[in-house]
Amino acid sequence: MKTDRPFSSILVTGGAGFIGSNFVSTALPRFQGRVLVYDKLTYAGRVENLIPLRKNPRFKFIKGDIVDGARLLKVFKKFQVGAVVHLAAETHVDRSIDGSLPFLVTNDIGTYRMLESARIHFNTLRPKAQRQFRFLHVSTDEVYGSLGQKGSFKETSPLAPNSPYAASKAAADHWVRAAFQTFGLPTLITHCSNNYGPYQFPEKLIPLTILNAVEGKPLPVYGDGLHVRDWIYVQDHCEGLWRVLQRGKPGETYNMGGQRAGEKKGKTTNIRMVRHICRILAELLPPAINPSLRRRGLGRYQDLIRFVSDRPGHDRRYAIDNTKIREELGWRPGHTLESGLSKTVEWYLSHLDWCRAVQEKNYGRERLGLKV
Ligand code: NAD
Repeated sequence: MKTDRPFSSILVTGGAGFIGSNFVSTALPRFQGRVLVYDKLTYAGRVENLIPLRKNPRFKFIKGDIVDGARLLKVFKKFQVGAVVHLAAETHVDRSIDGSLPFLVTNDIGTYRMLESARIHFNTLRPKAQRQFRFLHVSTDEVYGSLGQKGSFKETSPLAPNSPYAASKAAADHWVRAAFQTFGLPTLITHCSNNYGPYQFPEKLIPLTILNAVEGKPLPVYGDGLHVRDWIYVQDHCEGLWRVLQRGKPGETYNMGGQRAGEKKGKTTNIRMVRHICRILAELLPPAINPSLRRRGLGRYQDLIRFVSDRPGHDRRYAIDNTKIREELGWRPGHTLESGLSKTVEWYLSHLDWCRAVQEKNYGRERLGLKV
């Protein structure tokens, strides 16, 4: 992919997380400068995710909290940051129901501190460097709330967040917009749909389903399972972020979803997604040779599915209209749900050690988010 902006260094917050670590792998081969990952390493951020990248001399990891403004200022200055990809956040909706405060602190105060530090740094840059500088805020389609039976989210759709997670991301979006409108910081916002792929923490639907199935544990499906999500393979999202960073227009918002033109496959209900994973698993690890299933006398992964009580405030349907980013920046997702999901299941099956390591001591795949 062509590089329009020869950034000397890109600061990636949350780069030890799921999308962040995939983004760093996408970005490093595409330009000559440095990638600085700035990450607090919460339960979701893991140095294990960065092991394949650490050998690269243009990669640097800095452990730090985005709420720490003084530290951020030092990093901006010391490394003469040329662009920011801001991914650091608390991200799990169920955890935001159990306790919202970390979401307010990291997603809102943290984003505010990022914007302030970037602005102070930006004001010290020479005009040429200022023209190159970008602050990309990575947000979510969840800020738009829930759709009815028809339609899809456009960049002009009103923000109507329903969960504490979505509310904190929507508030951050407003701060980013204000930094552009008031201070002229060259910001960009993306709203992407649900990602899946390698390095996703096993609290999220797809890795949780894969790992529970492998271990012969129940596969929980919230409510009636008919909630619709517009799934996107993480690498496609990262390619889109790179495209927006390179060619996006400051002050603009771009939506990204998994739907490929002429296909209906990106979007699916949660129950169909879980059944789909069961089918792929049955090919890669037939139940007959999986001791966890044989012990329970089960011949099919589907027999592990259990409908459980719904998530409070659970959005019914998300769908993204990709028209703007496709027409203006030439981006479209490369993977079908079929191809992305097969790669994902294969990755988890070949990285069971990673799965054990990231869950050790802090997560046992228990149900979260029921507190009301
Ligand atoms: P993740 O939970 O896997 O990773 C989040 C990362 O942020 C972790 O490495 C964590 O250690 C770090 N972090 C958390 N608090 C921090 C703090 N105070 N200071 C510094 N680092 C901190 O999340 P993800 O799924 O990779 O999502 C990344 C971003 O993309 C988030 O902003 C999220 O809202 C957005 N997003 C995610 C999806 C999705 O489906 N996963 C979809 C659209 C947008």
